[in-house]
Amino acid sequence: MKITRTRFAPSPTGFMHVGGVRTALFAWLVAKQANGKFLLRLEDTDKNREVAGSAEHIMESLRWLGLEWDEGPDIGGSHAPYLQSERLDIYKQWAEKLIASGRAYADPYTKEELETFRVEAQKNKQPFLYRNHRPENPPVWDGSQALRFKSDPKVYHWEDAVLGDLSAGAEAVDDFILIKSDGYPTYNFCHIVDDELMEITHVIRSQEFIASVPRFLNLYDALGIDWPIFATLPYVMGADGKKKLGKRDGAKDILDYRKDGYLPETMINFLATLGWNDGSEQEIFSVKELIEKFSLARVQRSGAAFDEQRLLWMNGSHIRGISLDDLFDRTKNYWPEQSNQKSADYKKSVLGLIQERLKYFAEIPELTNFFFEDLPINLELITSNKQLKKLDNQQLKTYLQKALEVLTDSDFSVNNLSDILNNLLETTGEKPGILFSLIRIATTWAPASPGLADTLSVLGKETTLRRISASISSI
Ligand code: GLU
Repeated sequence: MKITRTRFAPSPTGFMHVGGVRTALFAWLVAKQANGKFLLRLEDTDKNREVAGSAEHIMESLRWLGLEWDEGPDIGGSHAPYLQSERLDIYKQWAEKLIASGRAYADPYTKEELETFRVEAQKNKQPFLYRNHRPENPPVWDGSQALRFKSDPKVYHWEDAVLGDLSAGAEAVDDFILIKSDGYPTYNFCHIVDDELMEITHVIRSQEFIASVPRFLNLYDALGIDWPIFATLPYVMGADGKKKLGKRDGAKDILDYRKDGYLPETMINFLATLGWNDGSEQEIFSVKELIEKFSLARVQRSGAAFDEQRLLWMNGSHIRGISLDDLFDRTKNYWPEQSNQKSADYKKSVLGLIQERLKYFAEIPELTNFFFEDLPINLELITSNKQLKKLDNQQLKTYLQKALEVLTDSDFSVNNLSDILNNLLETTGEKPGILFSLIRIATTWAPASPGLADTLSVLGKETTLRRISASISSI
């Protein structure tokens, strides 16, 4: 049995977005599950499209998510180098093999000439094929011309681990460029050479390349290389499920999710279940479970819609699942500035109160600011409240005065506060929707907060009484 070896082979042409990361994740899962190896190879042969910093960004994204590679450009490995621009000699040797066996030729045409052929074919309502224009006496390839593959058109049948049985007619096989006139190989050529030399067993990649597979198969055959297992991943679609999620339609840089305070385990869970399920209704998976349960055969064949609401829900679910200490460690960089004056224990109690409904860390300042500073008194919170707006100012003041009196006697433990507040409901004969909302607003001046007794207990006696007094004077 061959050792399973998968690879992620991004081109450093921009930031990593969810589609790219999902491809990496599936390849990683297949390798982990089989105790195999996962490789990172940077496909940097299109120098015009290269974006500075992109390679580092890709590696940082993968590291954040825990998708560590066993061999790669930064760590090397037994099949180094893993940067295609450092493998040009290798591609040249393989190209020469093809020339020697009569399966590659120097392309003598200028761009304009090729364009004329194309227009002509269009006029005659014929599909344009390079192989219909093979030169009779091609020049000797000296590296200044493009080197083109001489295809051997035939019908192909192949199996895709996701899409099942596939086939294509001979018209899908054409002569394509192996090495460009700038000396760099094309993806079509060098990924096949690299996958072979790097002993890749599963080529797991996006749907984008599916139409080219017959040409690849023709080249595998010409090079005498056994086909690897192919697994084609359907696109990640926009929320409406109709269009491929692209950078223009809101495909975010994956590291923006880190910045917003999404957990890496959420991203893994979310991306894994974007077009895959284990056959049950289960939606929350740990990484360990995914490694056990993942299978290419259960990847869905149609595109999977990217649902941001589901991601939020899932992140909330993972946030609830971790211990308060762990959560606290991870939220270090997200606290509002004013929180610096408070102790770690105080902040941890605040965090404990919002853990239930926190969806991502960047929400922390908004959800917690009133624990760290007196917010400006905003009477609109009262006048726009359906219940409270029915009370006149005198009534509001009376209720707050009563609250102030009973709270003065509290030890501010949650239990004691609950008792006192419930008592107050009885003595005033008022509904919690009115009385508790009023006290909540008068002590926080925030649109929402955790439960009243919990909130007051963390705020403490001094702050609570001070804020209620200030509120009474302002109403
Ligand atoms: N360099 C290609 C890309 O970034 C890789 C495709 C593949 O995995 O073979 O899309």
